Amino acid sequence: MVQRDDLLVLGVDWHVHYDHSAGEIVSAFLKGLGNGVIQGRHCPLCGAVWLPPRAYCERCFVATDQWVSVGPGGVLEAFTIVGQKFDNLPEPPYVIAFARLDGSDSSLANFLTMTLGSVEEMAERLAVGQRIRAEFKPESQRQLRITDFHYVLA
Ligand SMILES: [Zn+2]
Repeated sequence: MVQRDDLLVLGVDWHVHYDHSAGEIVSAFLKGLGNGVIQGRHCPLCGAVWLPPRAYCERCFVATDQWVSVGPGGVLEAFTIVGQKFDNLPEPPYVIAFARLDGSDSSLANFLTMTLGSVEEMAERLAVGQRIRAEFKPESQRQLRITDFHYVLA
């Protein structure tokens, strides 16, 4: 990285709260998470099950027609180990994983929780293709958010 002594670095805090509609599909998906169920959307033409759920199939450009329960097992398709602290995120190191849950045809990102302590230990333990499973928080702690569950190694 190039550093120049003549350039200023300005610290700025932005605190913006914004309420928006989650829409029909995402609202139903998040309500399902509150009940401990992960559901994708089925395409009537190609049969794909999209997760995160989509109103339209991105292959066929037709409306998806039904909900399909997926998981809790799945396959780790990609991951990153975060070793840097970011505001409003967990203490590093932690893992963000893309997993394709059983019964779905696309990957869903979420935290993958591990008990190992260092980035190196995590990197040695993780591999694309490993089995994972979705594990829900206790019902009383769910907030109708994607973080109502996380992945763990199966
Ligand atoms: Zn389709």
